[in-house]
Amino acid sequence: MPLNILLLGPQGAGKGTQAQRVAATYAIPHIASGEILRAEMAAGTELGRRVKEIYDRGDLVSDDLMIELIRNRLEQPDTESGFILDGFPRTTVQAEALGEMLAEVGRTFNVVFVLQIPDGVAFERLRRRAETEGRADDTDEAIQRRLDNYHRETEPLIEYYRVRGSLVGIHGERSENEVFAEVQDALEQVPDAERSLRDGGPEEVWGDREVPPAGSRRS
Ligand code: AMP
Repeated sequence: MPLNILLLGPQGAGKGTQAQRVAATYAIPHIASGEILRAEMAAGTELGRRVKEIYDRGDLVSDDLMIELIRNRLEQPDTESGFILDGFPRTTVQAEALGEMLAEVGRTFNVVFVLQIPDGVAFERLRRRAETEGRADDTDEAIQRRLDNYHRETEPLIEYYRVRGSLVGIHGERSENEVFAEVQDALEQVPDAERSLRDGGPEEVWGDREVPPAGSRRS
């Protein structure tokens, strides 16, 4: 039964860390759009050179290009068991394209997680990461731009997925283990994918879950 998971949330919310743990625990590939771009840049490909400037200043690369990259990645055979997607979609155009891609192969998301943290916390976490990892887009200016882009372009996707009924909000300002325990808790309740497709999506199962105001979930 494929397990298709989407992880939304601002930069610094812990998406990458949680996605890696989910991928290892449930034996599904972690597909991170930012990693795909970093690999292209590190390899010095034509595509990598094209996106570098946009990436470094913290802006979004074009929808067409990202959609193409993700389409290619989702066509790889290792996604047959499912996948956890992190960093894509970031715009409504990307979300719609993704919906079409999944529909073509008769799939849907079993669950969409939203990891929520306040901007101030995100900013500080990214600054600390800049000290240890030295990512080109972890300068103060680029961090601010990425958070602004998140609020403007990506945050509306919470509503997009909420009305589609598969959203689980998670308060991300806690320890990695606490957050992961809650993620696992939610994944244990994921209905089998075929049944959820037959019933027209996981709405009934996830319909009562909403994004909570920060701090309202048990920890
Ligand atoms: P991330 O590692 O997810 O924080 O992504 C790092 C950077 O890669 C972003 O700031 C964007 O420049 C670019 N990027 C990653 N994913 C996307 C996407 N889905 N759409 C547009 N740009 C993206």
